[in-house]
Amino acid sequence: MIEDFKLHSHTAPAEPLISIVVPVYNEEDSVGHFAAAIRTVIAESWPTGETAPRFEIVFVDDGSCDATAAIVRAMCRVDRTIRLISLSRNFGKEAALSAGLRAATGDAVIPMDVDLQDPPELIRPMIDKWQAGAQIVNAKRIDRLQDSFLKRTTSRMFYKTINALAEHPIAVDVGDFRLLDRAAVAVLNEMTERCRFNKGLFSWIGFRTETVEYARPARQAGSTKWGVSRLVALALDGITASTTFPLRVWTMVGAIISLAAFAYAAFLIAYTIISGADTPGYASIMVAVLFLGGLNLFSVGLMGEYVGRIAVQVRGRPLYVVAETVGF
Ligand code: UDP
Ligand code: MG
Repeated sequence: MIEDFKLHSHTAPAEPLISIVVPVYNEEDSVGHFAAAIRTVIAESWPTGETAPRFEIVFVDDGSCDATAAIVRAMCRVDRTIRLISLSRNFGKEAALSAGLRAATGDAVIPMDVDLQDPPELIRPMIDKWQAGAQIVNAKRIDRLQDSFLKRTTSRMFYKTINALAEHPIAVDVGDFRLLDRAAVAVLNEMTERCRFNKGLFSWIGFRTETVEYARPARQAGSTKWGVSRLVALALDGITASTTFPLRVWTMVGAIISLAAFAYAAFLIAYTIISGADTPGYASIMVAVLFLGGLNLFSVGLMGEYVGRIAVQVRGRPLYVVAETVGF
């Protein structure tokens, strides 16, 4: 009986359009390979007889100073399913991806890296899960052996920290590579916050989420654009966009230190009265230092409480995201 009530609310159309969004920055060696690989994999994934979805590839040129844009422009002329947006300078991958999400017209959107580190073979399993009802399909790396030891360790620390602090956890080891239903993309496009950390936003918006797993291969051509400083900046953006905890923690710390200083002061006063001063001035200086220090931290924390609320307000995220309404 229960079966009869299964929800059929999912609206994946019969012949859907899938947008593959690819931010590129100085990738003249990779764009051609990428488009060719996608074409091959799509042909192999949907053997003749099965109706393949339609695809578009949206390249977002993030202010490349090599021939990337020219090559993609040439590709657009011979292939009607390839599109190009060129940003006026290098705005960074997060901004480029946001531009691509806005420009994409598909019923589902899949952001991908151009270096084939996001295996195109996953596109079919992702789309299958989407057509079976998932609105977001995460691609989770179960093997990062191709990344250096340092990158793996720091990335593990990053996910641990952010998920211990964040108000809403982000999916561990899931990059930007995932399938997003049109409904999810529409919500993302409406989010106006400027310090964008897409991985955080993708998790924050919710929706029915499924996961496919893969081993992350090495970069195909070209070289990574992420130096240490860029990764640190991204991590900081991620943490400050996901939580105000680091601002607020000082309220607690300050309150605890102030209270402890109070207790210590009481002890020192009693001790000095009973057995006289060890070193003249020690008691009063210690008490003053500890108490004022605690009070300082406490007031910084209090300020943090307000700054945190201002940050949340300014970010202007929707209060909630509606998945479905019935009977209106
Ligand atoms: N990218 C970009 N703008 C940038 C840096 C990178 O659009 O400022 C693109 C890059 O061309 C690639 C993707 O982001 O398609 C991922 O970059 P990369 O492979 O260098 O990162 P990694 O895999 O090393 O983390
Ligand atoms: Mg890469």
